[in-house]
Amino acid sequence: MSKNYVIGFPRIGEKRELKRALESFWSKKIDSVELERVAKELRERHIKYQKKAGVEFISVNDFSLYDNMLDTALMINAIPDRFKNISDKTELYFSMARGADKIAAMEMTKWFNTNYHYIVPELSKKDEYKADIFKIEKEYEEAKKLGVKPKINLIGPITFTALSKRVDGEDVFEFFGKVLEVYKEVLSLISKLDDDVLIQMEEPIFVTDLEPKVLSLIKFTYDSLCKVDENIKIAVITYFEHANEAVRILADTPVWGVGLDFVYGEENLKSLDVLKDSDKVLIAGVVDGRNVWRNDIQKSVELLKDISKKIPKDRIIPSTSCSLLHTPFTLKYEEKLREDIKSWLSFSLEKLDELNLISKLFFEESLSEDEEKLYEESKKALSSKANSSFVHNKEVKKRVESIKSYDRELPYEERIKIQHKELKYPILPTTTIGSFPQTDEIRKVRRDYKNGFITEEKYEEAIKRYIDDAIAFQEEIDLDILVHGEPERNDMVEYFGQMLNGFAFTENGWVQSYGSRCVKPPLIYGDVSRDEPMTVKWITYAQSKTKKIVKGMLTGPVTIINWSFVRDDKNKSEIAKEIALCIKDEIEDLQNSGIKIVQVDEAAFKEGYPLRKSKIKEYEEWALNSFRLSVSSAKASTQIHTHMCYSEFNDIIKTIEAMDADVISIETARSGNVLLRVFKEVGYTHEIGPGVYDIHSPAIPTVEEMEDRIKAFFEVLPKTQLWVNPDCGLKTRKWQEVKPSLRNMVKAAKRLRESS
Ligand code: GLN
Ligand code: ZN
Repeated sequence: MSKNYVIGFPRIGEKRELKRALESFWSKKIDSVELERVAKELRERHIKYQKKAGVEFISVNDFSLYDNMLDTALMINAIPDRFKNISDKTELYFSMARGADKIAAMEMTKWFNTNYHYIVPELSKKDEYKADIFKIEKEYEEAKKLGVKPKINLIGPITFTALSKRVDGEDVFEFFGKVLEVYKEVLSLISKLDDDVLIQMEEPIFVTDLEPKVLSLIKFTYDSLCKVDENIKIAVITYFEHANEAVRILADTPVWGVGLDFVYGEENLKSLDVLKDSDKVLIAGVVDGRNVWRNDIQKSVELLKDISKKIPKDRIIPSTSCSLLHTPFTLKYEEKLREDIKSWLSFSLEKLDELNLISKLFFEESLSEDEEKLYEESKKALSSKANSSFVHNKEVKKRVESIKSYDRELPYEERIKIQHKELKYPILPTTTIGSFPQTDEIRKVRRDYKNGFITEEKYEEAIKRYIDDAIAFQEEIDLDILVHGEPERNDMVEYFGQMLNGFAFTENGWVQSYGSRCVKPPLIYGDVSRDEPMTVKWITYAQSKTKKIVKGMLTGPVTIINWSFVRDDKNKSEIAKEIALCIKDEIEDLQNSGIKIVQVDEAAFKEGYPLRKSKIKEYEEWALNSFRLSVSSAKASTQIHTHMCYSEFNDIIKTIEAMDADVISIETARSGNVLLRVFKEVGYTHEIGPGVYDIHSPAIPTVEEMEDRIKAFFEVLPKTQLWVNPDCGLKTRKWQEVKPSLRNMVKAAKRLRESS
C-alpha cells in the first residue's frame, strides 16, 4: 500500500476563520466557548481534508491558537513568573502571547529562516516542570472520532531548549536535564492514550551547525525517550536543510523514523548510507512545504526511486518537506489570478493531492481516474510554464548577461566630499526612514481607488494632499532631509511588485506570520522587468513643494526576494540581478528628475541568511552584488542611503561595509551602544544613522532623552559620521505621536550641533 506523511497542516483556516475568531475573542465579541467551537471545527475540517486526499500520517497538536512553542512551554509548565497569578488558562495563554495589563508579552522571533514567528520560552532556575497533555489528549480523541489514528506532533526537547532563553543566566542547556525529564513524563502520559502511538519529534535545530555540546545530547536524549514505554514510536523530523551530523547519531538510537528534507537539504542524500544499515524508516520530504509552485511529479518520483536504491521501499514514506504552515491554504478561492499562473501553483490542499500522487506512482499502484487527470494536468502545467512568454523574456536575459559593473562611479571617500558640497547638510543631519502614519483616511483612499469607487484623479488628489501636509510639517520642524511619506504604498514590497513584470498577487494566499497575523507574499513567477518609472511621480511632486532635499524611497532586491514566494526554476542570484536592474533604472530616472538622495531599503537583508555556515558565502555574494548593482547608476553626487531593521551586525559587518551605501540607518534605539561598537571596531567610515528613538512604542521621547542618546553615540563614533533619525518607518504610529517626537528630535540635534 502506498504511504505518505504530512509533517503539519496550516491552522489559520482557508478563509482565515481562526484569525477572525481570535480577534473577536480578544475584543470580547465572542467568549472562549465560541472560540473553541471554531477551533474544533477547523481541526476537524483539516483532518477530513487530509484523509480525503489519502494522507496516511495525519497530525494532531499541529494546531495552535497562537503558536506551538508557546503550547510546548505550557505543556511542561514553563511559565514565567510574571504570569503566575493568572489562574484562568485561556487568559494565561493569551497573556503570555500578547501581554496583559502591565505585564509584558513574551518575546517573539523568527522560526529558522521562515517568516513565521514563534514565542520564545523563558526558562529559569526556579521553574518546576510538570507535564500537561490536556490539549494533546483532546485533539487525539477528536481525530479518533473521525476514524483517523493520528501521529502526535511535539517540538523536540533539544530544539525547544535551544530556542528558549534563560532569564537568570547564560546557558539555557543547563536546564536540559529537567526539560528531558518532563518530556519523559509527557511521553509516558501519551503512551496511555492508545495501544501504540506515533510521536513526531520536530528537531529542526539539527539542521544548523550544532555545537559539540548540543550534538552530544542527541544520543542520550533519544535513547531515553524511546525507552519510556514500548507503546510509543518516535519519528525525529528535520527540515529546511540537511541534518547529516544528527542522522549519524540517531541511526544508533531506537527511534523508529527520521525525517529529512530533500527539497532544501539535498545533502541529506549523504545520509542514506548511514540509514541503509539501520532499521530506520525514512520520512522523505519531497513536496516543497514552503513554496507555492507545482511539484515536478516525475522528478520527485525519480528522486524517491534513487533513494530506494539504498533504502528498501518498505522503509520509505514520501512526505512534505516541512509543515505546510508556511504555504497558503488553497487555490480554490483564487478568481482573479491569470489561468496559466494559477495552473503553475500548488498550495497546501493541492500539495496533499500531489503527495498522494507521488506516493502512488512510487509504490507503483494504479491511479484512479482523478489521479490520472491530475498527473496529466501537472505535466501540462509544467511545460506551459517552461515555455511561457510571460515567464521568459529574452531582453531581460540579455541584459543580465551583459552586466559589466557593480561599482559606483567613484570610491566613497571621493563621493562623500562631492556630496557634502552638493547637499550642504549640517553635521548631525536629521531625517526619517520614509513612511509617515498610515491614517484610516489614506488607507480608505487606496482601497476605494483599487475597488474602482473613486477616479484616478480623486485618488491622486488625495495622495498629493497627504504629501503636501507631510512636506509642510517637515519644513515647519526644520528637518534637514525630507521624505514624501509613502502614502501610495500598502506595503514596501507589494508596491514595487505591482509595478514590475514577473510578479503576481493572490487574493487569498495568506500565510501565518504570528498569532492571528497573516501575510500575503507576492509571487515572483517570471523574469522581472520594469516598463516605466515606479516612484518618480510622487517623489518629484514632493520635491516640487520644497527647497529642501527630498529623499527618494525604494525597496532593495534582497528584501523583495526574501519577502516573496520566489520561482524555483531559477537561482535567486539571477532573480536578484533582474530586480536590481529595475532599481538601477529607477535611480537613474530619479536622479535625472533632480532627486539628490535615494534610500534603498534592505529591511530583510539579514533574515535571508542561510542556516548553515557553509552557505553564507554564496548568499552574501548575491545579496551584496544585487544591492551594489541596484545603486550603481547613482552619480557620485547622488547620495545613497540604505535602511535595515535591526542592530545586530556583528557577524555581517564586513558585508554591510561592502554594500558601500553612503549612509545607513539602523535600529539601535533599544540596544544602544553595545551593538554600535562593531562599526567602530572594523573602522567603518561611511555615515550612520543609529535610531535615536524606538518607533515601536507610542511613547513620545523628550528632547533630553534623545540628546542623551545621541551623546552616547559620540562615545563610539565621531559626530561628523552621525545622522539623527528614528529607528524605523513611522507608518504604524499616529500623527499625534510622530509630530512631537520628530519636533523633539530636531531640537535635540540642534542643541548638540550648537554645543559643539
Ligand atoms: N521606508 C520604509 C518605511 O519607512 C522602511 C520600512 C522598514 O524598514 N521596514 O516604512
Ligand atoms: Zn526598519
